[in-house]
Amino acid sequence: ILIAMALGVLVGAGFKSLLAGADERVISLLGLDIGLKAFFVDGLFHIGGQIFMASLKMLVVPLVFISLVCGTSSLSDGGTLGRLGGKALGLYTLTTAIAIALAIFFAVLVSPGAGVEMTSEASFSVAQAPSLVQVLINIFPSNPVEAMAKGEMLQIIVFAVLMGLAIALSGDAGVRVRNLFNDLNEVVMKLVGFMMALAPYGVFFLMAKLFTTLDLSDLSSLAWYFGTVLFVLLLHAFIIYGSFLKLAGQLNPLMFFRKMKDVALFAFSMSSSNATIPVNLDATTKRLGVSNNIASFTIPLGATVNMDGTAIMQGVATVFIAQVFQIDLTFTDYLMVILTATLASIGTAGVPGVGLIMLAMVLQQVGLPVEGIALIIGVDRLLDMTRTAVNITGDAMVSCLIGKSEKQFDQSIYDDPNAGKSL
Ligand code: ASP
Repeated sequence: ILIAMALGVLVGAGFKSLLAGADERVISLLGLDIGLKAFFVDGLFHIGGQIFMASLKMLVVPLVFISLVCGTSSLSDGGTLGRLGGKALGLYTLTTAIAIALAIFFAVLVSPGAGVEMTSEASFSVAQAPSLVQVLINIFPSNPVEAMAKGEMLQIIVFAVLMGLAIALSGDAGVRVRNLFNDLNEVVMKLVGFMMALAPYGVFFLMAKLFTTLDLSDLSSLAWYFGTVLFVLLLHAFIIYGSFLKLAGQLNPLMFFRKMKDVALFAFSMSSSNATIPVNLDATTKRLGVSNNIASFTIPLGATVNMDGTAIMQGVATVFIAQVFQIDLTFTDYLMVILTATLASIGTAGVPGVGLIMLAMVLQQVGLPVEGIALIIGVDRLLDMTRTAVNITGDAMVSCLIGKSEKQFDQSIYDDPNAGKSL
């Protein structure tokens, strides 16, 4: 996957310089005149990448539903489930709060916004964010089929958990249904395996297309902002997650990072925690040794509620925008930012670019101008990719910790470097 990604970047960047200045370069092949851009960039790369993304997304809803029903139907009582939910939400909130606090600390230290000019034509408008009450009500589906059709992850989780509990309490009928779901789970995981075999091609197409169209002209003026976000993302992923694994889980962090590498590359190339769920679930259960009971719950939940990378961008961006507009933020404002960003990440789905919409909520909360977002949009695509990789790494880390503390964890799988290698 790494090789495919590097090749994609090279090919994309190559095309970009080839096409620079001339929109329609044409080559003659076998007597046919072919427009380079139309054939490769808008044709092959675009179609290949989109088909790959669609196929992975296709698996998300059936996989989350089936594996979560399997998981909860074998947890024999509601108490265990409550404890699991409590631990997951507690850890997800804690890591997000640490992430954003770190981000604010480094942004204040580096002052990435000092000296940056606000250009007058910049504008950015956002749809009104839903209220907290609405977010809460929206967690409960009125129609599970509609929830699945729309891919509403939290609603699907609620329905699957209830189904699972009912199956566990339904005696013989429950056992039969559970067996069916266990078999279905095997089959859907096989489908995930197919997709993983195609991953290098998909990643190549996505990268090639992206790097042909990516405009990096804003990078130089936003270098300090970009650098600060990137630095805190790496710090959080390696040092904070590493410490959690080592200190709270007595697990070897290096092994964790080694096994998560491919999943992180997936997330990076797709910019979507949701689309990464199948691959992440596969890695957490087969490569890291967390039992399906735990992972089927924590991974989809984390994809929606746990976005440490996104919170980091928001922390740095808030400080950056305040500096550009020369508005002083007080200590209370910073606390407000931490609180709003943590809460905002709970109700929003892990899809590309959603971080900017959440940022608008945070800015409004502390009275900063929302148009400031226009300043950072130019470099957001690359940061979106990187923060998504951090988001899903956090989900897997929490999954390992909970698996370990619930004794639903196979240490021998975790320690075996080749366990579950399907690529
Ligand atoms: N793309 C991110 C994710 O899916 C969300 C964001 O930061 O925009 O996790």
